[in-house]
Amino acid sequence: MASASISSSFARRLEGKVALIAGGATGIGKATAKLFAQQGARVVIADVQDEHGLAVSNELGGSSIASYIHCDVTSEPDVKNAVDTTVDRYGKLDIMFNNAGIAGSPQWRIIESEKSDFEKVLSINLLGCYLGTKHAARVMIPTQQGSIISTASVASLNPNGAPLAYACSKHAVVALMKSTAIELGKYGIRVNCVSPAGVATPMTTKALGMDEEKVEEFMAKHPALQGVKLKANDVAQAVMYLASDESRFVSGLNLVVDGAFSILSPLDS
Ligand code: NAD
Repeated sequence: MASASISSSFARRLEGKVALIAGGATGIGKATAKLFAQQGARVVIADVQDEHGLAVSNELGGSSIASYIHCDVTSEPDVKNAVDTTVDRYGKLDIMFNNAGIAGSPQWRIIESEKSDFEKVLSINLLGCYLGTKHAARVMIPTQQGSIISTASVASLNPNGAPLAYACSKHAVVALMKSTAIELGKYGIRVNCVSPAGVATPMTTKALGMDEEKVEEFMAKHPALQGVKLKANDVAQAVMYLASDESRFVSGLNLVVDGAFSILSPLDS
C-alpha cells in the first residue's frame, strides 16, 4: 500500500491524456504545450504560425508525443479537421484548450473604433472558442468525458482600460463557457476558463510596443503585484489543474490568475 501511494503521488498528472491546444505556437499556449507533455499528455498544437508551431512540436519530442496542424480558429472546416485529426492520430480527445487570441486595435472609445477591428477580434477570440468548444464536444460526448478550457482574461471581469473589442470578446468567452458548462455537464464534460493578468508574450509585446523584459516590469508595477512577475508557465499550471482529473468536480469556473490584480480597490493602494 505504501509503495502504491508513493508512486501515485509521483505520477505524471496528465498521463495517457490527449490534448488539442489552439494557439499553441507561442506565449501561454506554448508554455501549456510544454507542461502538458512533461506531465504525460500527447499534444496537438493548432495555429496559423506554422514555423513556430512545428518548432514547438519538434521540441516536445516529435510525433509520438506532439504534432502540429495548421488551423485558423475562425474557420469551421479547419477546427473540425484539427479535432478529427487529433482523434485519428492519438485515438481520442480528452482536453481542448481554446487559447488563440489577439489584442486588436488599442482603441477603447466606441465612436473612434472600427467595425472591421471589432469583427476581427470577436472572430478570433470568441468565434474561435465557440468552434473549438462545439467540435471538441462533438467527439467528447460519445466518450462521456472531457475538459474544455478557454483563455479569457482579467478583461473578462472588468474592462480595466482594455481595448473595447478585446474586453467585449473576453466577457463573451466567459458567457460561452458558462452556458456550455451547464449543457455539457450531463455528458461528463467540464468547461472552464482561465483569466490571466498581463504576461509578457508576443501578443503583449506587440500591443505595448515593448520587449518582454519591459512588459514584465510594466505589468509588475501594479500595486497589487508588488513587483512579482506573472509568467506564461504560471498560467499553464492553472490550465493543467483544470485539464487534470484533480479538478473532476470543477466546471463553470473562470479561474483568475492575477495575483489579486483585479480585486484591488482605490482604498487598498
Ligand atoms: P500569443 O500571441 O503568444 O499567442 C496567441 C496565439 O494565438 C499565437 O500563437 C497566434 O499565432 C495564435 N493565433 C492568432 N490568431 C489565430 C487564428 N486565427 N487561428 C489560430 N491561431 C491563432 O499571446 P498570448 O498572450 O500567449 O495569448 C494567448 C491567449 O491568452 C489569448 O487568448 C490572449 O487573449 C490571452 N491573454 C493573454 C494575456 C497576456 O497578458 N499575455 C492576458 C490575458 C489573456
